[in-house]
Amino acid sequence: MIKFKSLEDIEQMKAAGELSKAALRRAGELCVPGTTTLEIDQAVEGLIRLHHGQPTFKGYGGFPGSVCSSVNEQIVHGIPSSTVVLQDGDIVSIDTGATLGGWVGDNAWTFCVGKVSDEWKGLCECTRDCLKAAIEQAVPGNRLGDIGAAVQEHAEENGYGVVRDYVGHGVGRVMHEEPEVRNYGRHGRGVRLRPGMVIAIEPMITLGTYDCHVLPNGWTVVTNDGQPAAHYENTVAITKDGPVILTSDHLGPWCPMQGGDGEL
Ligand code: MG
Repeated sequence: MIKFKSLEDIEQMKAAGELSKAALRRAGELCVPGTTTLEIDQAVEGLIRLHHGQPTFKGYGGFPGSVCSSVNEQIVHGIPSSTVVLQDGDIVSIDTGATLGGWVGDNAWTFCVGKVSDEWKGLCECTRDCLKAAIEQAVPGNRLGDIGAAVQEHAEENGYGVVRDYVGHGVGRVMHEEPEVRNYGRHGRGVRLRPGMVIAIEPMITLGTYDCHVLPNGWTVVTNDGQPAAHYENTVAITKDGPVILTSDHLGPWCPMQGGDGEL
C-alpha cells in the first residue's frame, strides 16, 4: 500500500533529506586518491549523529556500514572497508541515508576520484541526466512508467545499459515503501502519480551490459562484464506544484569537480 504524505509530513521530510544530502556532500569531499571507503563511512556516520540523526543503512537487513560505497564495476551496496583504497581514475558511488525526526532521506551520487577517463565521466553524466529526466516526469497525472521510460530512453539512446534487478522505492518513515520505481518501462503505464507520494528515484546505469550478480559477501552487486556502473539518487515528493527534491540543500552547488552542476 502506498503511504501518502501530507504537506506537513513533506516539510518534516525535508530535514531528513537535507541531512542525507549533507552526508553525501561530506562523502564527496573525501573521494580522493588514498581514502578508504571505511574512512568515508565513519565520517558520514559522525556527521549524521552530530546532527542527531541515525544512519539509516546501518544494521538495515544486517548491512554493516552507514554508507554504501560501490567502486567501478560495483553497482550498489558496496560494503565500506579499510582495505578498499580509492585510486586515481576510480569512480565511486556513495549512497547515504539519514533518519531524522522519524523520517528517512535517501540519496546517492557517483564521484570521480582524481582524473577519470572521458568514457567513464560520460557514464556518470548520462546517469545524472537520467535522474534529472526522471524527476521531470514526477508530476501528478503521470504514471510510474513515465519515470522508468525517461531513464531508459536517455540511457539507451546514449548506448548505456539500464540495471533491471534493482529499483527505486517509496520513502517515508522507513526507507523502503511501496511503490517500486523501475528505471525502465513504458509511458502511460503503471501506478498513477498523485500529490503526497514520496519516492526515491535512483537510476543505475552501466557502460556495458546491465546483467549483474551479488558477490559472496551477500551484498555487493557487480556487473557481470566487469564494466563500470554509475548510480544517482534523490528522494522526491510529488506535489500539485510539481516535483520537490527533498534531498537537496540550500548551500548551492557542491562538488563542482564531479561532473557538472550540483542542482541534483
Ligand atoms: Mg534508495
